[in-house]
Amino acid sequence: MTKQPQSIDTIAAQAGSHEDRGGAVSFPLYFSSNYRHESLAEAKAFDPTTGYSYSRLATPNRRLLEETLAKLEGGQFGFALSSGMAAIQLALSILKTGDQLISLDDLYGGDFRYFRYLATHAGINFAQWNGERIDDLLAMIEPNTRLIWLETPSNPTMKELDIAAIASRVHATCPDILVAVDNTFLTPVYQRPLTLGADIVVHSATKYLSGHNDLLGGVLVCKDKDLADEYFDYYITTGDTLAAFDSWLLLRSLKTLGVRMRQHTAGAQAVVAYLKQSSAVTKVLYPGKGGMVSFYLRDEATVERLLNHVSVITFAESLGGVESLITLPYYQTHADVEEKQRERLGITPTLLRLSVGLEDPADLIVDLQQALGEG
Ligand SMILES: *Cc1c(COP(=O)(O)O)cnc(C)c1O
Repeated sequence: MTKQPQSIDTIAAQAGSHEDRGGAVSFPLYFSSNYRHESLAEAKAFDPTTGYSYSRLATPNRRLLEETLAKLEGGQFGFALSSGMAAIQLALSILKTGDQLISLDDLYGGDFRYFRYLATHAGINFAQWNGERIDDLLAMIEPNTRLIWLETPSNPTMKELDIAAIASRVHATCPDILVAVDNTFLTPVYQRPLTLGADIVVHSATKYLSGHNDLLGGVLVCKDKDLADEYFDYYITTGDTLAAFDSWLLLRSLKTLGVRMRQHTAGAQAVVAYLKQSSAVTKVLYPGKGGMVSFYLRDEATVERLLNHVSVITFAESLGGVESLITLPYYQTHADVEEKQRERLGITPTLLRLSVGLEDPADLIVDLQQALGEG
């Protein structure tokens, strides 16, 4: 046996290209909701983690995608779901009434809506940490704490966390507490939480993993077999799985993940340099890598002017695709976060979030200049 490739670029580029029995280099798309049993003996011995019977349990395209995602994240078990929120729901499916969930206070807006639902409907205790001192996080841990939920860099204020330090100190305090990281913004190209000590990683695959603004999907990867078994039971029972075509499309998109991410970074760095010297911009938040840039404009009138006049950049929600998108988190992605919390986090009506796509950054800069009236 040859050694498995370790490089993200090699894993991604070759995903599935040695798997088809017929020799197809691009793994074919299987449209079938069910699979034939060869005999009663085979049906009796059927194992849904290796074979195929009914598509809620497994499909060839989804399994190949899940194996690739697990390798990319440095984990063992991957799950592909119908949305990022579905992946988050799967991650939290292990919580029981009375358990405590501690999360960072600066997360994707939909997370808070779901955590609030769990608190009111399922009796989950929900606490928030401000991401500053790990000692404060450890002090919040109770005997019933089950899971710690992190996102770094955070959305939209780009707060960065030291995953390795948090995971090692939490596990030293209590080895049973699970540390989960939403890795949507950096992807395994720039950050692999499982290799830094986290237990669970999730993605909105709608964003960079698919990268073309053309599908909705979610991913969960973990390392522990018992945890994976628990997730697998829930996953195949509730059936919030990624369909065959979207699995095929996502695997195909993953093949260019590395080159896309590096180009997003190059584009974002050029745009950041422009924003930093613009007189309309009062502050730029950028973690140095990836394509996500947040910035404050001097007033709301300038925000309105920019959003009404961009023409290369699209004023639309979402992020991580080839097309540059700009959003106003206060009124869009984070509208459901309580007003006081938005204020504390700095999510104001003058904060814009730009997902720098793969257009020539010079064209993006000209677009921003004309939209700001600086052209
Ligand atoms: C978009 C997003 C989600 C939710 O994913 P969907 O695919 O929209 O369900 C979760 N986390 C982050 C960081 C996101 O950007």
